[in-house]
Amino acid sequence: MELNDFRNYGHQLVDWMADYFEKIEEYPVKSQVKPKEIINQLPLNIPSSGEDFDTIFADFEKIIMPGITHWQHPSFFAYFPANGSKISVLAEMLTATLGAQCMIWDTSPAAAELEERMMEWLGNLLGLPKNFVGVIQDTASTSALCSLLTAREKLTNYQVNSKGLYDIKELVVYCSKETHSSIEKAAKIIGIGKEKLRSIEVDGNFAMRPDLLESAILEDKSEGYIPLAVVATLGTTGSTAIDPIDKIGNICNKYNIWLHVDAAYAGSALILEEKRWMIEGINQADSFVFNPHKWLFTNFDCSAYFIKDPESLVKTFEILPEYLKTKARNVNNYRDWGIPLGRRFRALKLWFVLRYYGKKGLQDKIKYHIDLANVLKQRILDSDDFELLAPVQFALVCFRFAPKGVNETKLNELNEIFLERLNETGRLFLTHTKLNGKYTIRFSIGQTEVKLEHIDQAWELIQKEKMKLT
Ligand code: PLP
Repeated sequence: MELNDFRNYGHQLVDWMADYFEKIEEYPVKSQVKPKEIINQLPLNIPSSGEDFDTIFADFEKIIMPGITHWQHPSFFAYFPANGSKISVLAEMLTATLGAQCMIWDTSPAAAELEERMMEWLGNLLGLPKNFVGVIQDTASTSALCSLLTAREKLTNYQVNSKGLYDIKELVVYCSKETHSSIEKAAKIIGIGKEKLRSIEVDGNFAMRPDLLESAILEDKSEGYIPLAVVATLGTTGSTAIDPIDKIGNICNKYNIWLHVDAAYAGSALILEEKRWMIEGINQADSFVFNPHKWLFTNFDCSAYFIKDPESLVKTFEILPEYLKTKARNVNNYRDWGIPLGRRFRALKLWFVLRYYGKKGLQDKIKYHIDLANVLKQRILDSDDFELLAPVQFALVCFRFAPKGVNETKLNELNEIFLERLNETGRLFLTHTKLNGKYTIRFSIGQTEVKLEHIDQAWELIQKEKMKLT
């Protein structure tokens, strides 16, 4: 592409991006296309000769855009947010332009050193212990996998790495019934098998019961199993429950078990002093993860993984072919801090976001989201036919439509239909979970530009749609 064309198309695209943000609320939040509608519009083969930008871009608008679910729409209340911000998008443009592959210090010293400093900033921002050292991974799933692999290697004196899965039949990992599915995936990948993942019962607030954790550990030990690791969650996916880190940490300490803390979503809330109580005892943990790409205005992907003993992480993943040997000393070669060799320059967008908002700006936004969740919670508590199904710990509200005189089975069916109808309107996007067998609507607030008016509109819509059900 000629430089001048690049300049012109670039300007055109930035205008398109600004228009997109301006008009985002005109799109249906959840894509309305049917399965195969997109692929059927795509030719079976690559064009034999190149096409021009205008043709490609016209197809982007015509074919691709209708199949996009608008995660940055302020009425996106599904799952957990994957919020971005304009400043983060601008930084990503630079990252793409530089196209640096940041596997080792030499392949871009600024990327390695900026990442080191950004992880220090984040650790301080969240109030993590000073001896926790951070590295950026792509996702919390990868971070959990790195954590459990490191735990496995440390426990077996790095023998699985050298001999293969020689004799680890007896290793077990513990989590709660509400733990994210990425831990089951990690248990499968690290070779212990999902049957050796013990799901501990939760209390009335959906948090792991430490007494039952200890009983399970003792039972396993008496049967000859070796407890490898415990995964505790701050902000479970279903209902944002908070596992008691201090009590779980004491147990791990007592039996010398690795502790990983998954705070993928809720970790961002630690930037508020009033949420710090939930990491009491965190110094007993071995690793901790949270995702700036969920709730810290840094667009996907960016997962901040912290570990107390980074040497064990590096020892687990270290590999040194001749072509990667360099002379630089006392630098971080992040290729050995995780699974892939190649790495994107993710620290750049974090730097832009953290500087642009500053600590106060980030705190204000997170606090505002939590305040909005409490407004919605109050409306639910004040209404006769809606029921709150879990404590509101952060910015997720779990509830259901529960008109009087309807039995549990019918309530589940009714709420499933209700959710479908709400999403079909295209005016918001909500998802569900099951809590104590109850079909639960999850209203997750966290988009960068969400305001009270969006909660008001959603509540109005909920009231209107409910009338059609009864
Ligand atoms: N842990 C928790 C508590 C989550 O809620 C999620 C996803 O929502 C994950 C882990 C997985 O996150 P990722 O998509 O970054 O792997």
